[in-house]
Formats: sequence, structure tokens, C-alpha cells
Amino acid sequence: MRKLILFFLIISIFNFPGSVHAQNEQPAGPIYIVQNGDNLTSIAAQFGITTDELIAVNGIIDPNLLAVGDELIIPGLEGITGYLITRNVAFGSTLTSLAVQNLVDQDLLVKLNHITSPTELYTGISLIIPEDDQKQPLQQKYLLGEGQSLLEFSILSGQNPWQVSSLNQLGSPTRAPAGTIVYLNTDSDLSGRRLQVLPLGDITISPLPMVQGKTIIFKITAAAEVQLGGNLTGHPLHFFPDGNGNFISLQGIHAMQEPGIYPLQISMTMPNGTVYTQEQMVVIESGNYGQDPVLLVKDEFIDPATTQKENDWLTSMTAPATSEKYWDGLWSSPAYYTDCFTSRYGNRRSYNGGPFDFFHTGVDICGGDGTKIYAPAGGKVAFSGPLTVRGNATIIDHGWGVYTGYWHQSASLVNAGDTVVGGQVIGLVGGTGRVTGAHLHWEVWAGGVQVSPLDWLEKTYP
Ligand SMILES: [Zn+2]
Repeated sequence: MRKLILFFLIISIFNFPGSVHAQNEQPAGPIYIVQNGDNLTSIAAQFGITTDELIAVNGIIDPNLLAVGDELIIPGLEGITGYLITRNVAFGSTLTSLAVQNLVDQDLLVKLNHITSPTELYTGISLIIPEDDQKQPLQQKYLLGEGQSLLEFSILSGQNPWQVSSLNQLGSPTRAPAGTIVYLNTDSDLSGRRLQVLPLGDITISPLPMVQGKTIIFKITAAAEVQLGGNLTGHPLHFFPDGNGNFISLQGIHAMQEPGIYPLQISMTMPNGTVYTQEQMVVIESGNYGQDPVLLVKDEFIDPATTQKENDWLTSMTAPATSEKYWDGLWSSPAYYTDCFTSRYGNRRSYNGGPFDFFHTGVDICGGDGTKIYAPAGGKVAFSGPLTVRGNATIIDHGWGVYTGYWHQSASLVNAGDTVVGGQVIGLVGGTGRVTGAHLHWEVWAGGVQVSPLDWLEKTYP
């Protein structure tokens, strides 16, 4: 029946194009720009319409000719104009804040994105948001202070309280408890009006989605006198000022962390002791790591009585986050052979035919007995000495909770407490400890977790 009506509608449009044009200059709905991987079926499903409706309203003759960048009118969204843009949800955003900020109705966001519960709003997921070129997204946001009513806030900001509550989709000015984030639709200078700004400034997290083995960079803009903290998968986040008004935390995602959805908390303690905490779910995806061939080693090297003690010691060695940062810029390879690897980070491992429930904690780099090992960046030697499983080992503290480890050396050329610079020779490759042959095992720790070391040679970490 609906199709039939549509059919007659189309016929009438084609018969009297002039009259339609005269009635309304606007297209019959907002515009969606075709993205890579889209087809008519997927676009129709995304907006809860049929392909026939999509074809009809856009006058598509050959659906196979759909190209990336084509503009399609989406029917069934009366009153919406402009473009439907795909955006990533920033940490701390709620359905309400996204709706208010983009001057759209919450219900519309729910409808456009098939959201069944606000808890589906994970950090980093993409949402379709209508963007009207006539309206700029709201930038100015404030916090209702302790004991401050929206009425008082409105007077201070020189706004009508009903307009403020309407703009913020609150229903009524009375529905705004302390701590409510309020957006204002004004370009005038509101400084000096005792409006409390949000203590947590811009929060950027990269990369998103989070992936097993990656080093995640948390960057938060905040005043110097505040203290930042946080937690992800049981690891405390250590934040340090970068000298440019930002706080940085570098946190690794464990290579064996079960893919799924985890809470991320970020908190800020103000000088007066007030603590603001934001929590949102984040997605952790698989790193799709491979498997190494079964490794054959002496039984003593896989006896938990030996391995557990050494693992625990290593965990405690790499847990503290030194506030001084010793590196600057991109790291250089610690090995003579920079593009030859015998085993990659993250590979699942089995010892002597047991289950594949171990993983390779670093990267094995080619180079036989006596080949030089270089410090990849500045740091302070935290340990240098013999270990049962790891052989002659050196651990360098690079600051901010970042450590590197060099195992199985034939000789170490540095001592605990030494300061090293990038490119300095720190030891020689060997075959000491649990090995099947001489090689350099190199690993990188961030926030108490071993991460993919080669990332640190390809990307500059702040
Ligand atoms: Zn290794």
C-alpha cells in the first residue's frame, strides 16, 4: 500500500515538477554522502527505509552505478535538512550532550542510529549526526556549580532561563542539578561572570578502537594545579604534564586481554579536594596475532616455581611511573639488523607441546652472538644482571611508566643507575636463559603492560 502511494507520489512529481519546486526549495530530506563499502541495501537498512524508497526519492536509474561521494536524499526524516555526518563519540559524551551540542533532538539521534539504550554509546563508536550548515555546533559549555540553580546561572550569563533549559533539552529550568553541563548559544565574551567551566577539558584518546598490544595515548587539557587519574582494565592511569597545558598518560593494552567492552574511568581532583569522575565504556578489539611453532625448552624454564617468581619481579620492576621523561621524539632500533625478525610480538606460544596460552612479550631480532645492542632512546638503567629465564637482562626506565627490556645478552655494558642516550651501545647479543639460539629479545612496557615494540619505532609518542 505504502509503495503504491509512493508510486503515485512519484508520478505526480514527474507530472508537475514545477509545482513541487515552487512549494519547496529544499530537498525532501537530509543528504547522506556515500561512504566506502556502502551499497543501497546497507544505506536503506541504516536509515530504516526500503531500497525502493531510496531509489524513488533519488531518481536512481541504475543502482549499480552508486559511487563513493554520491549525495543521496534520505526520505522519512521530515524537518531535517543538511548533511548526515558520521562522527566518533568522544569520551564523556552522552546522548544528551551530543544532541544539545549539535542542536538536534535526542529522539532523532536515537532513531538515526538505532540506539536501544544510552549505554550503547561507547567511546570511539561512530554515530550519524545531522549537520545543518545554517547552525554551528555549540562550543561553549559550563558546569552548574555546587548549590547553583539554572536561574542563577542564567542571570550570570545574561540568558533567559527558559531558553537555556530548552537549548539544553532539560524540559524545565528546575531539572538541572549541580554538576549539569550546560551549553550556551552565544558568541559574546562571558569571562569574568563567575561561570564555572568544565574541569575536564578536551580528552583525546588514540588509537580508537583500542586493540590488544597497542600503547594508548590519553591527552587531557587541564589546569596545571589539578591532579588527574584513571583506570582501564585494572591498570591505574598515570598522567604527566607535557608542558603545553596537556596531561599525557601512556597505557598498554595486554596482548591477551579478552576482546570486549570495558569501563574507562578518568578522574580529576581539584585543589579544594573536589573529585570529578567520568566513566564510559570502551571497545577493545583483537590484535589478530598469529602462532609461533611449538617451542622446546628445558623443563626448568617452564616450571612455575621459577617463571612465576621472575615474572612477578619483572612486573614490580616495571610498575612505577617516573615523573621525569627521558625520551624525546621517535625511537631508533636497538638492533643492528633493523628489519629482520625471527618472532613477532603477540604471537601465541606453546612450550613443549602444552596449550597455546602464552604469548610472545616482545620481538626477536636477528643478529648472532656479540652483535651490538643500542638504547632506542634516552633513559635510566633500572636493572642489569643475570636472570634464570631471561638470561643476562637489562631494563631501561624511559620515564612516565615506559620501560624497555633486553634479554639473553652475552654481555651487558651498563649498570643500574646509569643514564643512557639514544644510540648508545648497552650490551651484546647472546643466547643466555630460555632460548633456542642467540638473538635479541626486545620488549617495551607501558603502564605495566608489554606492548608492541615496533609501534615505538614507527610513531612518535608524546
Ligand atoms: Zn623473544
